[in-house]
Amino acid sequence: MRIELLCTGDELVTGLTTDTNSPYLEARLFELGLKVERVVVVGDVRERIGQALREASARADVVVVSGGLGPTSDDFTAECAAEAAGVPLVEDARVLEALRERVARRGRELTPNVARMARVPRGAEVVLNPVGAAPLFFLRMGGCLLFFLPGVPREFRALVEGEVLPRVRAELEKQPGRMYRAFRLLRTVGIPESVLDTRVAPLARAHPRVVFGFRTHAPENHLKLMAEAPSQAEAEAALAAAEAASRRELGMAVYGADGDTHAEVLARLLTEAGATLALAESCTGGLIASQLTSVPGASRFLVGGAVVYTEQMKMTWAGVPAELLARHGAVSRPVAVALAEGVRAVCQTTYALSVTGVAGPTGGTPEDPVGTVYCALAAEGAPTRCERFVISGDRDTVRLFAASHALELLRERLLSVSSS
Ligand code: AMP
Ligand code: MG
Repeated sequence: MRIELLCTGDELVTGLTTDTNSPYLEARLFELGLKVERVVVVGDVRERIGQALREASARADVVVVSGGLGPTSDDFTAECAAEAAGVPLVEDARVLEALRERVARRGRELTPNVARMARVPRGAEVVLNPVGAAPLFFLRMGGCLLFFLPGVPREFRALVEGEVLPRVRAELEKQPGRMYRAFRLLRTVGIPESVLDTRVAPLARAHPRVVFGFRTHAPENHLKLMAEAPSQAEAEAALAAAEAASRRELGMAVYGADGDTHAEVLARLLTEAGATLALAESCTGGLIASQLTSVPGASRFLVGGAVVYTEQMKMTWAGVPAELLARHGAVSRPVAVALAEGVRAVCQTTYALSVTGVAGPTGGTPEDPVGTVYCALAAEGAPTRCERFVISGDRDTVRLFAASHALELLRERLLSVSSS
């Protein structure tokens, strides 16, 4: 099945908006085993849109068009579609009524420009938009099926899921000898990409139906598994076997799958354990707090955190003794330990994490060069654990990895507590 995408909008060809609709749809189609053959982007120019519609429909079996269905004067994709198909625009009574109800709910009258959204090419199949105003419609031109969707990404995605993919799937079912696919993304922290590759290589040979792919997304490395088989059940079974083998091989390094985030997984573990957490962050400057508070419900476990950037604040907020700072320096094992224990005492939590390090590009000593980071975990009823890391990379990289290493100390502890 040949599929093409057509995105319309001046904002897409003048550097104002990045086309995110195409990558979204491409990824979803790829899961069905379909690779988009061409993506065309045109500005809001009638002739260009008409030409692009005629050309794409002459080449492809399916064309998905995004944008230009709204109420403003630069929205004229429906007109262009009607013209390209050689049919007039007609008013769809059901859409008009839905638009009238929609504006009435907002206490407004139906204006002519809003009513314009009810005008669709004659013969098109029209579907009401459950998440927006402009309807979507499908049109056949020759042997090609064209889908017309609003460009607003939230609406585009909802309509892709609800309307486009089921129809594409149905078309695919009719094709003989088609292959089925199943996907899993395993998310790892703490192992370099080359190590991941080496450890997984023997598995790839043992699972010929599964393609093993790698993606680095600092500070994480991801393993992408894609199974392909003549039936969905076989694809799922091949995927499950490869996933189980990968998890066995990689152990703790796999923190989650698919849409999980490191912070979400920690939030889940902390919540399940009924544990609380406090933070004392120096070189990460609140990054760990920011990551954890991005998870809804963070108040169930996160009590508070201090950005203890200067020596003064390490003493004032986390109770680090002046003598310790003078003797060992702020970037040192004893100070990391004192920070974690100090902030835990202040916040009265089950756990506390601290980070102190040299993010660079300047600073550092021969013993503790730029990128040296100490992370400590203080815990109720257990000795404080402190680890030293030397991270290579720029300032942002050092900070990202430092946050991730600190979270890993905690994840390891939570997993070992829950399994003992
Ligand atoms: P439209 O449906 O043409 O009225 O588009 C509405 C809004 O959606 C535009 O102003 C853009 O901000 C956004 N938009 C349109 N097309 C895309 C696209 N391909 N990718 C991301 N955003 C888009
Ligand atoms: Mg537009």
